Amino acid sequence: MSDFSNQFSRRKFLLTAGVSAVGSVFLKGCLGNPPETGSTTPVQQAVATNATNVSAADKPETTKVKLGYIPIVEAAPLIVAKEKGFFAKYGMTEVDISKQANWGSARDNVEIGAAGGGIDGGQWQMPMPYLISEGRITKGNRKIPMYVLAQLNTQGNGIAIASKHLGKGLSVKIAGKETFFAQLKSAKTIFKAAMTFPGVNQEFWIRYWLAASGVDPDKDVQLLTVPAAQTVANMKTGSMDAFSTGDPWPYRIVKDKIGFMSVLTAEIWKNHPEEYFAMKADWVNQNPKATIALLKGLMEAQQWCDNFDNRKELAQILAKRSYFNVPADILNDPFMGKYDMGDGRTVNDKKMASLYWKDEKGNVSYPYKSHDLWFLTESVRWGFLPEDTLTNAKTLIDQVNREDLWRQAAKELGVPAADIPTSTSRGVEEFFDGIKFDPENPKAYLQSLKIKKVKV
Ligand code: CA
Repeated sequence: MSDFSNQFSRRKFLLTAGVSAVGSVFLKGCLGNPPETGSTTPVQQAVATNATNVSAADKPETTKVKLGYIPIVEAAPLIVAKEKGFFAKYGMTEVDISKQANWGSARDNVEIGAAGGGIDGGQWQMPMPYLISEGRITKGNRKIPMYVLAQLNTQGNGIAIASKHLGKGLSVKIAGKETFFAQLKSAKTIFKAAMTFPGVNQEFWIRYWLAASGVDPDKDVQLLTVPAAQTVANMKTGSMDAFSTGDPWPYRIVKDKIGFMSVLTAEIWKNHPEEYFAMKADWVNQNPKATIALLKGLMEAQQWCDNFDNRKELAQILAKRSYFNVPADILNDPFMGKYDMGDGRTVNDKKMASLYWKDEKGNVSYPYKSHDLWFLTESVRWGFLPEDTLTNAKTLIDQVNREDLWRQAAKELGVPAADIPTSTSRGVEEFFDGIKFDPENPKAYLQSLKIKKVKV
């Protein structure tokens, strides 16, 4: 896909990185969350396991790696693998889990790599590993090949709406949208919705939700990339109408009476792909055994996180000062699938919570190529990537998605065959509005969508 257009300009992303740093200030004030740029989290831990599962043949080439994370529930498996000693168990005794100030700095840090004081990989929204591999969001458009190795989680995200719009039909499906959005537009108070990084998960969820009810995200509303601080402060004062967010934000927004949740991503697309574990290809190629060791540790951590009996302890681990630095209480309800939506609706269903190992569709950790294809297709839908991306998508996905390494690690770990997907495709996906995505025919999906930028 050498002919990616330049619609993702470097400037746009630099701007994002700059403003997102302000978000950490807000997090510090509101959530007590202090993610300093490039800061590392030294973790003192007593790990009982002494790499006992590592034979001489499996001994990793290195015991060291530096992985970036953003303090949201998606990061749980990486943090647990470190804290509970799952990485160490497979010989990775010096894993540095490094809190990133924002997605822009995660991108900057992977560009320079751990050797230069950055990171070797870690947690990513999709399709960031593809955009970095193709040099679309890197300095000088330098191509930095990355490998997608595992999915971290599903669900756990949603759309927050300012309280002033309560009772105006903004729910899973939007009622009366013709008058609501048109009136705001004609009064020059166009509905403003925000996300913290453009062209990735959070923007896709808010766009899908709006478009499914006939609201054109490029015409009827204004979508902005703004820092969380500005978003929430503006939502409080009434100048920001919505933003796309992850746990534990829904809990805070409702509790602080700033707004309500119109929809959870689990309601838009049950068991949807969310965030991923990806590394620089160079690191993986140089350290194949260490990569498998990391994957084994991550998978064990995902199994641990998925056990609802462990979720209170999980909340306590993440809440620590060195990680999220929040009261554990605000994580407990969402981890049990309990959401007060703030508009009278409540959700109480473990199947709607953030899941890490298994969901109703099967394995959560396995990185389906068909999901990577959806993210690329959705990028084409909104004009973020050129239409011919789809012509070359298979080649690109085969380069970036290393589900083969996931399989190898799973087999060595002794994951039962029934828990290892037999195909790289999860098959046809269905959204809440009845739209279907058949990975065998992404063009038909684009054709079936009424609101889109691409002409198909
Ligand atoms: Ca997310």
